Amino acid sequence: MSKLTLDGFFSYCKQIAEHIQLGERMASLSGQGTPKLTSAVGNLYYDSIQPYREDANAQTREFLARVVDVLLDYVQQVNDRNEKILDFKMPEEMQKALDLHLPEEPLPLKQLLEDCKITLKNQVKTGHPHFFNQLSCGLDIISLAGEWLTAAANTNMFTYEIAPVFILMENVVLEKMRSMIGWKSGDSILAPGGSVSNLYAFLAARHHKFPQYKEKGLSSIPGQLVMFTSDQCHYSVKSCASVGGLGTDYCVCVPSDERGRMLPAELERLVRYHKDRGNIPFFVNATSGTTVLGAFDPLMEIADICQKYDMWMHVDAAWGGGLLFSKKYRHPRLTGIERANSVTWNPHKLMGTLLQCSTVHFRHEGILLSCNAMSAEYLFMTDKIYDPRFDTGDKVIQCGRHNDIFKLWLQWRGKGTSGFEQLMDRLMELSEYMVRRIREQSDKFYLLLEPEMVNVSFWYLPRQLRGLPHNRDKEIKLGKVCAKLKGRMMQAGTVMVGYQPDDRRPNFFRNIISSAAVTERDVDFLLAEMDRLGHDIVVD
Ligand SMILES: *Cc1c(COP(=O)(O)O)cnc(C)c1O
Repeated sequence: MSKLTLDGFFSYCKQIAEHIQLGERMASLSGQGTPKLTSAVGNLYYDSIQPYREDANAQTREFLARVVDVLLDYVQQVNDRNEKILDFKMPEEMQKALDLHLPEEPLPLKQLLEDCKITLKNQVKTGHPHFFNQLSCGLDIISLAGEWLTAAANTNMFTYEIAPVFILMENVVLEKMRSMIGWKSGDSILAPGGSVSNLYAFLAARHHKFPQYKEKGLSSIPGQLVMFTSDQCHYSVKSCASVGGLGTDYCVCVPSDERGRMLPAELERLVRYHKDRGNIPFFVNATSGTTVLGAFDPLMEIADICQKYDMWMHVDAAWGGGLLFSKKYRHPRLTGIERANSVTWNPHKLMGTLLQCSTVHFRHEGILLSCNAMSAEYLFMTDKIYDPRFDTGDKVIQCGRHNDIFKLWLQWRGKGTSGFEQLMDRLMELSEYMVRRIREQSDKFYLLLEPEMVNVSFWYLPRQLRGLPHNRDKEIKLGKVCAKLKGRMMQAGTVMVGYQPDDRRPNFFRNIISSAAVTERDVDFLLAEMDRLGHDIVVD
């Protein structure tokens, strides 16, 4: 074979190879089949792309571009009403269907791309317009873009030094949120969830009253501390008593009215009871938007009692805080929130910011540093070239802190404050629509109570139970229907709504509308689908 023919042969091979790659790339670009890597990149391993190989920009980009294609396909499916919400598998079945093992040897990039696809294929589509199951749902696209950027920036929030832009964004957003609460100054932090936000409030309250606790500990407190919260509160409030050394017996549950709102007279009675016994009532948690019923505790009356007995007032508005945007719905629900000492407010709930994004705010300037600072010298040097007040790391009981601000900041820029207001009003109107539709179909649905928020609590009546008088016996049966119907909904995968019992009632459905994807026709679909799946349920 002459040299010339050999060269020709090689160039022919190269052409074929390029042709195949081009074909693969075209197929993935045109959306035919699922995103695929060309064989040249798919067969590579982690150490053939950046950062291991500086010259592998093209290969790195191709890998990431196909991963992004997988994500974009998912976003499309989430917004497609013809797609199911989930393909339910029992845990054992799921374990068999997935290859989750951690290999001794590396896997090629094409396998990692497959892993991404399979993961999302088996995930519950919490942003689907027929997902009514959770307080955090919906898939806000701008917030998603923010989360992607956040991941790429991959920085820690403890010092200005390594997160200058994000730290300034935190300041801007948190100051705006405080001003919406009604405060001109104060202190705030983003925490890993509303439960931890509530814990920050508890710690600050104790520090405020007993600053010596920080150094001298529990024995420096001259008696038994007692905290108060309604029987409808989020369980994280009770956990403060356990984590904080009071013991859960000293987290006193105040009775609520039939709509789930704390009874202020009962609060005062219980505060006196403990005072008379020589205990130290110091902390009251009022809930704005309870987790199950969406009830709002009467803040003005609670504030009066806190003032009278010198107790810290915390408002857990993890769920209802978003309504601060709405001129129409803010009052009377959140009237008096400005009198609180601290407020928890989760943008990852009603505002639709991606998980997770939770904030806690204080009326007292500098309280977080005073309460939590440990002055670690390797991070928080006081002789830095910039004002060390821009370092947030010493305000928290964590060390590192995730960047939860960018996705919220970007979302707020995109919507404007008015956009959030419109979203709040829309979610409330849709809930009012749902209440109306339930009342119109009173043979099939029973509304438990007039909701104050987007939590709509109801029972579904299968044929067996229609037309019978409503009594305790029937309620027990309706409670059994919930579990059966929920099971059928999971298997069908077409709609998701949650149920639970409470102190007054057996199981009932709690529908949540906190996704911007939901419309009137989705509410109608939900009710029709529950009836389609449940009409023949029989319980004893
Ligand atoms: C959800 C919720 C919490 C807890 O928030 P996480 O972010 O889930 O920790 C606290 N309080 C109320 C009222 C809630 O609804």
